[in-house]
This record gives sequence, structure tokens and C-alpha cells, in this order.
Amino acid sequence: MTLPQLIRRFVRRHAAAYLLSAALLAGIALLVTWLPRQIGHMVDGLVAHRLTTEQMWQEVGWLLAAGVAIYAMRVAWRLKLYSAAYRMGVELREALYARLAQQGPRFYQTRRTGDLMALATNDVDAVEMAAGEAVLAGFDGMQTFVLVVLAMAIGVDWRLAAVALLPFPFMALGFWIVSRKVHERSRDALDRFGDLNDHVQETISGVRTLRALGLEGLSSARFSTLAGAAAEASFQAQRWEALYEPAVGTALSAAMVLSLALGGWLVWHDELSIGQLTSFGLYLAQLIWPMFAAGWVLSLWERGRAAWDRLSAVLEEPLAIEDDGTIAPVRPGPVVVRDMTFTYPGGTSPALAGLDLTIPAGTTLGLVGPTGSGKSTLIRLLLRQWMPQAGHVSWNGVALADYTLEALRAGIAWVPQEPILFSATVAENIALARPEATRDEIAAAARLADVHDDITRLPQGYDTPVGERGVTLSGGQRQRVAIARALLTDAPLLLLDDALSAVDTETEHRILGHLRGERTGRTVVVVSHRLSALADADRIAVLRHGHLTEIGTHEELLARGTHGGWYAHQWRVQQLEASLDAA
Ligand code: ADP
Repeated sequence: MTLPQLIRRFVRRHAAAYLLSAALLAGIALLVTWLPRQIGHMVDGLVAHRLTTEQMWQEVGWLLAAGVAIYAMRVAWRLKLYSAAYRMGVELREALYARLAQQGPRFYQTRRTGDLMALATNDVDAVEMAAGEAVLAGFDGMQTFVLVVLAMAIGVDWRLAAVALLPFPFMALGFWIVSRKVHERSRDALDRFGDLNDHVQETISGVRTLRALGLEGLSSARFSTLAGAAAEASFQAQRWEALYEPAVGTALSAAMVLSLALGGWLVWHDELSIGQLTSFGLYLAQLIWPMFAAGWVLSLWERGRAAWDRLSAVLEEPLAIEDDGTIAPVRPGPVVVRDMTFTYPGGTSPALAGLDLTIPAGTTLGLVGPTGSGKSTLIRLLLRQWMPQAGHVSWNGVALADYTLEALRAGIAWVPQEPILFSATVAENIALARPEATRDEIAAAARLADVHDDITRLPQGYDTPVGERGVTLSGGQRQRVAIARALLTDAPLLLLDDALSAVDTETEHRILGHLRGERTGRTVVVVSHRLSALADADRIAVLRHGHLTEIGTHEELLARGTHGGWYAHQWRVQQLEASLDAA
């Protein structure tokens, strides 16, 4: 969609507001063009001594009344229009937010957070200005221009009007050149602002690391460079915009000179009265506004277009994961991975290759393997965050793509290694997916996740605020709160992606034991680096370089030790480490 299309659709939806504003503007324009005529009329009356004092006061009274009416109508159209234009800002932000919420990892892998935030502020503002101010100022300028020129040509003298208009085509050419430059520069300015925003966002989220490494100076220097570049880009855009004014000034001065020369000649030859020439001069002065409006509208328009280019690219970027499945809800059943191969965009070798795996319903699968072997990738594919290039995953006999995304999300509880806690109380964080859960249910989930005792020791227990501006929980506490959050949902499939890396071995063992003891028929996939924590899992799968190399119970895998299985070898290494630690 282009900006004109977007605005046309918006104007059509808010036709009432735009029509009323336009009607008020038309009223203003009529009154404004009537004024010089009235003044010219008065001047001629005064020069000819035709006006009585009483008549003159009456004429002045009319002028004053017109002035007040113009003022009132100007206030009214602005009130009407701005509320509509703000609506557009709100709608655009909502659309952007909804799109950002729908987009998957592939999108975020290539986009920068700060720049996306800049879109929601700066760019939306620019489009809003184009849809509100620019549309109506354009309409207003245009109608005033037409009315004034008609009044000049019909009301005063058409020859004078024709001569006075001679310089304007040159001005239009100047406008055209300037507006193209403004477009380029505005685009640049918006991009630079995005860079700046991105740096600020990155610095704030990584401030501790920066400080620890003593890199504040470096970061500040980079900030200065980026801020300088953003300011310079804005300045460049404004420098071009500043050229509108001299173009208007020059054209108007030339028109004034031309019309005074011809007007003087006409008055000399008695073809024009002094009053008429006065009106003409006033009309010419009234062209200042439409001319400035044209320059201003072009600026706003080009800025809006540049912003819309950036915004529409994000709004129209296709979703990496289409939500075109129809089956809901998910019913518990075996999860089957068939001959699945997946390569990340830009990746050289597949992160998973020809994977075959069946996870019977209600069982626990331990997923192990060296770093980078594809464990998290498998979890992400089960979550349908990515689509495999070959093969597929089915759940209870239905391909994942045939479920609605909503059903799939509701059917799977996922805990990543670094869970996010939102700025809310602990209880609210646990009940994120089930806000209606009772305190008892929340506490039960927290007990299963072995975090209940930690929570009761917090200053306000379950009502302690956490997240950015609350109490800071330890990494292990955060992980356990996230597990409680997952357990509170009744999702039949639970995926723990190294979700207990920050808790000690016994606690991890205990929590996994609780999960098994729960007997809810939940299917669980646990990624862990500690093999001892997974020893009781129904089955353990070993991934290496994206291939499934071993699968079986702990005992079965250990029994293969003599043949050099990765699991058996790693088990011995970890046992040895544990005994050395204990010693
Ligand atoms: P594990 O969880 O076993 O440590 P991963 O599944 O995270 O392994 O990674 C498997 C492979 O895919 C690695 O080679 C890794 O570099 C690559 N990889 C992981 N995530 C991405 C990503 N978002 N983009 C590109 N490559 C990735």
C-alpha cells in the first residue's frame, strides 16, 4: 500500500471529520477573499467622500464580525481534524504492535529493536502529520489559491492577474526539486534516528556489562557519533526545506513588481481605480499563505512518505510462520518427528539433519548432546517458531502446521534458558497464562517448581514486585518461577530448554522428580547438560551435529559405553567431576 492509498482509506473512514473540516475551511476561504474586496470598496468610498460616518462604522462592524467568525472556524476545524489524525496514529501503532507480536524469530534476527521502537514513535508521527495537517493544509492552500486568483481575475482585472501569475511556474519547478531532496534527506534522518535509538536501547540493556568492562567511554563516544549523524541528517533535511521560503518570497516579490508596474499603468490610463489596485495588492498578499502551505505540505508529505516506506516494509513483511491451520484444540498424543532437516537462514550446514524421533504421550524425553548440536533448534521446531525445510513434526497424528497457532501455543508450555519476568508481582508472573488461577493453584505450581519457600521469604511473599523495577531474583529463582508458570498451565506438552541450568544439581533432580510424580499424563522434553538429572527419564536422546546418534534409557545408553557412545563417555566424565568436587 502506498501512502496516498493509506490516507485515502483513512479519510474515507473518517469522512465526517474531514468533510466538516473542509467545509469550515471553505467558509474561512470565502470570508478571507471577501475581505480585500470590502476594504477596496471602503477605500474607494472614502476617496470619493461617499461614505457617511454611520455607514463607515457599519462597514467596519462587518469586517470585525468576519474576523471573529474566521477565528472561530479556524479553531473548530483544527479540533475536528486533529482528533481524527491522532486516531490514525493510534491505529498505525496498533497495527505495528500486532504485527510485531505475530512475527517470529526469523524477523527479529534481522531487525534491530531500537529501530523498531523508532518506527512506533518518529515514523508514525510523520505519517500522522501527513494524514492530518498535510491533507487539510493542502486542501486549504489549494482552495484559497483558486478563490484568490478568481477574485483577482474577475473581481479586479484579468490582465493584472495573468501578469502577476507569471513567476509561479518557476516557483513550482523549484518546489519539485526541493521536495525530492527533502524526501531523500528525511529518509536518511529517520534511519539515523533508528541507529541512535538502537544504540541507546543496547547500551541500557547491557549497561552492567559495559561498566564491568570499563567501556562507558567507548559507548559514549559512539553515542556522540550517532547523535551527531542523526542531527546532521535532520539538519540536512531542514536545510532543503528552508529553500521553500526564499522561493515563495522571490516569486511573490516578482509578482508584486510586475503587477504594480502594470497596475500603475492601468490606473494612469484610468482603466483601474486606486481602490481596485489596493484590493489587488491585498489579494497578492493573500497568496503568501497558499504558497507557504504548498511548501509546508510538500515537506510534511515527503517526510510522511519516507516514514511510510520504512513502516510499510515492516507491516507488510510476510509472517515467517503462517497461521493457516484449522485444527484446535490440541489433543494429547505422541509427538512424531519424521526425517526432519532444518538449516537456519544464512547457515551453511543443517542444524538438524534427517531427524527421526517418536515421543510417546505422557513420557519424559531427556535431550542431551554437546553445545551447538541442535537441541534448542529441535525445541524451536517443536514450538513451530521455524519451519523445517524437509520432513515434519506431527502431534497426535496431525501435522503441527495444521493446528491453529493459538491452539499450538496453548498446548505447549515452554521454558527457555533465560526466561523473562515482567514488571508485576511474583504471583502475576506465575499466573501469566492463567490470570484467573487461585493463590492455592499458584502456590501448588511453585511447590512443584521448588520455588515456594524462596517466594515466601521475599519481603511481600507472592505479592513482591519483580521484573525491571522490582526485587531482583537470582538466575535460579527466575528459572524456577518460569517453570512454575509453565506448570500452572495444563499444556499437555512441556519443553524445558536448559531451563534449570542455574539451579544446583539436587534441586534440578528434585524438580524433575516432581514432574514425574505429578502423573498428569504430560509429555515432557528436557534439555540439560547434567546427565545425572536425566537419568530417570523414560528415554534419553543424544544429538550430535544435528544427528540423532543414540537413544534409549539411561541403562541402555550406559551399556553401550564400551563401544565409545557419547553418553557413556560423558556420564563417566561428569561422575568423575562430581566426585572430585565432593572430595
Ligand atoms: P544446542 O542447543 O544444542 O546448543 P542449537 O540448537 O542452539 O544447539 O544450535 C545448533 C546449530 O545452529 C549451531 O551450529 C548454531 O550455531 C546454529 N544456530 C542456532 N541458532 C541459530 C540462529 N538463530 N541463527 C543461525 N544459526 C543458529
